[in-house]
Amino acid sequence: MSQSFDIKFVDLERQYQTIKEEIDAAIADVISRTNFILGDHVHLFEKEFAAYCEAAEAVGVDNGTSALEMALRALGIGPGDDVLVPANSFMASASAVSFVGAKPVFVDVDPVTHLIDVTQLARRITPRTRAIIPVHLYGQAADMDPIMEFAREHNLLVVEDACQAHGARYKGRRVGGIGHAAAFSFYPGKNLGAYGDGGAVVTNDAAVAEALRVMRNCGQREKYTHVMLSYNRRLDTLQAAILRVKLRYLDQWNALRRQWAGLLNELLADSGAALPVTRPENEHVFHLYVVQVEERSAVQEFLKQRNIATGIHYPLPIHLQPAYAELGYKQGDFPVTEAAAKRILSLPMFAELTESEVRYIAEMFKAAIAVGRAEPLMQSVGA
Ligand SMILES: *Cc1c(COP(=O)(O)O)cnc(C)c1O
Repeated sequence: MSQSFDIKFVDLERQYQTIKEEIDAAIADVISRTNFILGDHVHLFEKEFAAYCEAAEAVGVDNGTSALEMALRALGIGPGDDVLVPANSFMASASAVSFVGAKPVFVDVDPVTHLIDVTQLARRITPRTRAIIPVHLYGQAADMDPIMEFAREHNLLVVEDACQAHGARYKGRRVGGIGHAAAFSFYPGKNLGAYGDGGAVVTNDAAVAEALRVMRNCGQREKYTHVMLSYNRRLDTLQAAILRVKLRYLDQWNALRRQWAGLLNELLADSGAALPVTRPENEHVFHLYVVQVEERSAVQEFLKQRNIATGIHYPLPIHLQPAYAELGYKQGDFPVTEAAAKRILSLPMFAELTESEVRYIAEMFKAAIAVGRAEPLMQSVGA
């Protein structure tokens, strides 16, 4: 390699340089109007994001964790209720359930897609089960038709965790408007990311949206009349203005992510690693490009030394988190999730990668796997 590379996991500075003028103008506009709280940009972003998700309503909130919690609360989930949650996700998919006083009940995932295994739902349901949280993990939709069917049969509510899947499609439909409500995160590194925290709840139910608007704003429908006790979980106007600019680029960015994922799949086909699989009914938006390897830490170290950042999503399954010790789960409860947690590795993935960078990642990854394979052998020879 004559060129030298330094590939971050996500490069937000590079993205900013492509939209700098529009972003700077949007920020200046908010500052000049000083409508920092629930300003026009919040309402306009909500309209535009709902339309983008092919749903009726979007309500901007302060982050994705809040969006999940508030969606559950607005749907009436609370103490005494059980909620089905995949064991392989970000912690918030489950902790939001606990925050409303309900109990997460974990479900193992599919070994190929890492998405909630719908064949396990019937086994995990209890007389107290009131809802399911399918997580569209890594940017690919969970299998929503059987999930919605199961929910109808058992009278359950469905809250999509779409925090990693802005723009993803399932059988042609955008995620977000398929369940009873959906939570999105605009954490900076997400496919649609703010310059700080942000989130939204998307729903087709106008009454739920109205309840959420009161709930996020200290329980006020009109100023200084509090119809309920509630917290302040508003989306900043500044973030909404930034998100409006970025939303216009989201489809283009997602298409580039798909292009790089396709190229990686092609270049790594003979690598021996398990590669991401897109189910035929899905349009994947590759928030993360997750492979599975043996000798993961050796592979990660090898790539780090060659200036390629990697991540693990997630190294410790939710049911084994110290914070959930009280729920009484143990190693062995969810074998697919636990096995994956030891092998999964996320390679750099963002729209602004270049083709030569993607080829460098693939080449170094293949070399890393070869070294990873050789290492245990060398150790046993030395011993
Ligand atoms: C990012 C994320 C969240 C939480 O979003 P925050 O904005 O960080 O609170 C929830 N669920 C999943 C699957 C996520 O990736």
